[in-house]
Amino acid sequence: MMHVQITCSQCGSGVTVAPAITATAAKCDICSQVTELKFEQAHVDSHLEDCPVCSRKDFYQQKDFNRKIGVVLFVIAACLVPWTYGLSLLALYLMDVFLFRKLSMIAICYKCKTIFRNVANIQAIPGYDHEMNDRIVYSDHDFKGKPLSH
Ligand SMILES: [Zn+2]
Ligand SMILES: [Zn+2]
Repeated sequence: MMHVQITCSQCGSGVTVAPAITATAAKCDICSQVTELKFEQAHVDSHLEDCPVCSRKDFYQQKDFNRKIGVVLFVIAACLVPWTYGLSLLALYLMDVFLFRKLSMIAICYKCKTIFRNVANIQAIPGYDHEMNDRIVYSDHDFKGKPLSH
C-alpha cells in the first residue's frame, strides 16, 4: 500500500498518513497544524496522479535515501581513518553502493514536498528537474503533470 508523508507547512516535520477516502485531514504531532487531504480511489490503489495535499500533478522520483544516516556514517568513517589507513572510507563507499542498490524509489511533490512510498506507477514518474522545481516553487507554475521538454 502507498505511504504518504506530508511535510507540515508550519514546522516542517513529517506527518505520515495511509491513503483512505475517509482520511480528509492529517494533524501534525509536533505543532498540531492540520493539513487537509483529498484522497481518491487511485491513491488507495497505490496509484499517484494528483497530490492529495496541493492537487498538483508534478512529481519527481528519487532514491529513498536517509541523508542524516549518511552524514553520521561519513563522520564515523572519517574519524576512523587514522586507525584504518583510510579503509573505513572504502568500507563506507562499498556500503553506500550496496545500500543504494537496495533502496527503493520514492515520489516527491514539487509543490508541497509530500513524499510517496510504494507507488505502483513509480516508473512513469520522471527524475528531478531543477528548472521545473524553480518554476513551481518560485513562480508557482503548474505543469499539470507534463514534464518539461528540453
Ligand atoms: Zn507541524
Ligand atoms: Zn503536493
